[in-house]
Amino acid sequence: MISFSYFPYSLTPLGSLNANSKGEGNSGALFKISWNSENANLTGYADFHSWSQFGDATIQDQIKNIELGIKNPHFEQTIWLAHRDALARSQKRSLFQHPVQIRSNYLVSDADNFELATLGDLKQAGFKTLKLKVGRNFKSEIAAMNEAASAGLRLRLDFNASSTLPLFLNYLNQLEPLILDQIEYIEDPFPFDLKDWQEARKFAKIALDNEYDKVPWADLTKAPCDVLILKPAKLNIQNTMEIASRWNLKVAVTNYMDHPVGTAHALSVAMELRKQYRDMILDGGFLTQHLYKADLFSEQLTVRNSELFPAAGLGIGFDQLLETLPWLQIKSP
Ligand code: MG
Repeated sequence: MISFSYFPYSLTPLGSLNANSKGEGNSGALFKISWNSENANLTGYADFHSWSQFGDATIQDQIKNIELGIKNPHFEQTIWLAHRDALARSQKRSLFQHPVQIRSNYLVSDADNFELATLGDLKQAGFKTLKLKVGRNFKSEIAAMNEAASAGLRLRLDFNASSTLPLFLNYLNQLEPLILDQIEYIEDPFPFDLKDWQEARKFAKIALDNEYDKVPWADLTKAPCDVLILKPAKLNIQNTMEIASRWNLKVAVTNYMDHPVGTAHALSVAMELRKQYRDMILDGGFLTQHLYKADLFSEQLTVRNSELFPAAGLGIGFDQLLETLPWLQIKSP
């Protein structure tokens, strides 16, 4: 039998998070999931973070879904990650007991509210790559890109599908060669369209993130992108790796700009994949804690040399904090 408890939370952003959000709070719930049978009792934890502006179920809707036994791929990932955590906890091991190095890009979600002078500090702190959410204010984006490229930082740009092919090409046209040379890839330039994306690929490496579900994978004769963004919070890992292998794509694992519990899960999946797939797994994106007000969970994560270090404990960590949360039981169908 499987049973669910949850703890709702909200993360308070300190600025605008992307081209489609204007700084409003983001909510989610931590889930405590137990599998009880005659032979074993397992309990694990995972996050369900809701970007309702991108079509995720709200927490209230998700609780109803569970009560009614309605499945959806997003929550299936929460269950899968919680089960992975539960197995590790039952075997008294950490999911980080054999860590491998995996760096993070530094994320700037709002070029308008970013101190350019801090870019030098980033370099000093060991960062190699800056990820910039773009498509809002060209002038401040250019200033940030110029400064970063001059400092030798690689660039990952993310339009969150907010542009169009002509506007995107026009945007690229206005970038200096110094910046173009430093671009590692550009995420979701505009809503997915096979022909237009293949056109965009002629000018820059393109990464596929939120538009993933719109790709007719079974009908493709040519890859629609160069890089897949794999968010364990949302995507089935095995399916995604099969697609990446089939089309010879690189994979960047990232968190879902979610709760530190979700972020710890993403990091542990990334490490496991890097051990298995090596160079196919690019450096990731796990450092979004500074975009939100700090809390007891985020205070347990540390960053050194552009790497995220998880909390101590079994599974994904945070043992004491997770055990003492006031969990709310859900009536399963
Ligand atoms: Mg993205």
